[in-house]
Amino acid sequence: MEAKQTPVLVVGGGIGGLAVARALALKGRAVHVIERAPTFGELGAGLQLAPNAMRSLHRLGVLEAVSRDAVFPRQLLMMDAVSGERITAVPVGTAFRERYGYPYAVMHRSDLHAHLLQACRNDPSITLENGRTVVEITDRGDRAHAVCADGSVYDAGLLVGADGLHSKVRHMLGDDTQPVCQQYVAFRGTVPTERMTEAAGLDSMVGWAGPEMHLIQYPVRRGDLFNQVAVFRSPGYRADSDDWGTVEELEAKFSGMHPLVSASLETIGKDRRWAMYDRPPLDNWVRGRIVLVGDAAHPMLQYLAQGACQALEDAVCLAGMLDRSSSMEDGLARFQAARRAHTARVQLTARFFGEIAHADGLAAMFRNAAFQRRDPDDCRHFDWLYGHDPLEPNAADDLGCVSWLKQFAANATGGSPYPG
Ligand SMILES: Cc1cc2nc3c(=O)[nH]c(=O)nc-3n(C[C@H](O)[C@H](O)[C@H](O)COP(=O)(O)OP(=O)(O)OC[C@H]3O[C@@H](n4cnc5c(N)ncnc54)[C@H](O)[C@@H]3O)c2cc1C
Repeated sequence: MEAKQTPVLVVGGGIGGLAVARALALKGRAVHVIERAPTFGELGAGLQLAPNAMRSLHRLGVLEAVSRDAVFPRQLLMMDAVSGERITAVPVGTAFRERYGYPYAVMHRSDLHAHLLQACRNDPSITLENGRTVVEITDRGDRAHAVCADGSVYDAGLLVGADGLHSKVRHMLGDDTQPVCQQYVAFRGTVPTERMTEAAGLDSMVGWAGPEMHLIQYPVRRGDLFNQVAVFRSPGYRADSDDWGTVEELEAKFSGMHPLVSASLETIGKDRRWAMYDRPPLDNWVRGRIVLVGDAAHPMLQYLAQGACQALEDAVCLAGMLDRSSSMEDGLARFQAARRAHTARVQLTARFFGEIAHADGLAAMFRNAAFQRRDPDDCRHFDWLYGHDPLEPNAADDLGCVSWLKQFAANATGGSPYPG
């Protein structure tokens, strides 16, 4: 079959792929997006969008539309899932917005995806195709080739791998490793908000932290729906089987928690569970005219609620760095230099925060005591994340933290930062 020529080919039409298509088109590039699913869309439930994501959405020209469907919580509240005591809160009202220039939002992930898709459809520089599963990619120096399962072939001046956790494009860059299974699973879903009581914290993003478990609750879709994510470490985990992380395990774990937590069992979605994976930071994201973005480049645990936020930053940064550079090679190198250390820091901090959130016994007591002493209005610890501008990165600062976090992970696990 004759190859279809395109200046830019984006593989994957998730949040990362659509954002990168939009960002590149805004800089005057023609982009073709191919997605393996028969229709564009998102599975799952809610999504937290921190100010760094809202900054990127502004640059993508969709902030206003997205904001219409979002909810802007009053605070991010951390509660103890066993005792029911309040651990700490981060007010995300006026002072928080002024500090970062953008608010903290929560929304249905399919709403965000729909707004990005609409922006792509409205853009004459972007074309979109479904039902195209990339099975083979070839680096041809100043071109990249992609072959799909149905025999269709693409020849691109730039190929962007936005194909998620199990990325085929990443594999082509020489990474033969598999995602690391964390033995945790999530059950998640939304219900009409009228089914919830005020006790669920309807104006807040509430995170309940407990031993090897947590529960996240917040409203989405202008407040009409209520999102819940129940996460726990599966006692029945077996590497050679998929029969773990069951509804019975969920019920056993959550029924022993504070009544406000166990009450979520009545409303949480139980028809599907998501196993939790991440990968260690990847050193090289670029080969010839092939580059990775989003989960394909830096899949992370959701404990900082940053995977999609970072994918949006990637999109803005890639388009910006290519625009600033005289050659594609230079632009891709600048993109990688701008993003690699920062996303590694987010990936490793997410793991670190997971250890804190899932602490038990004495460790949980120390966590609560330390967090209860913090000044709720002190946001300095979030500046590196929420205040980050992907077009003006500070890689030295990020690198210092990455080496500390790697050391911490190695000490905690007896040598390997990523136990399988
Ligand atoms: C429980 C949970 C909660 C989360 N909460 C948050 C949160 O609150 N905030 C946040 O920012 N992030 C959150 N995340 C992370 C976030 O969902 C991801 O980081 C984000 O969706 C990644 O987007 P992506 O486009 O890079 O990848 P994906 O969403 O995985 O998209 C990849 C796309 O590529 C397509 N594809 C794959 N392979 C091929 C192929 N060979 N050919 C063609 N197409 C292909 C797929 O069909 C898919 O559409 C959460 C994740 C989980 C699991």
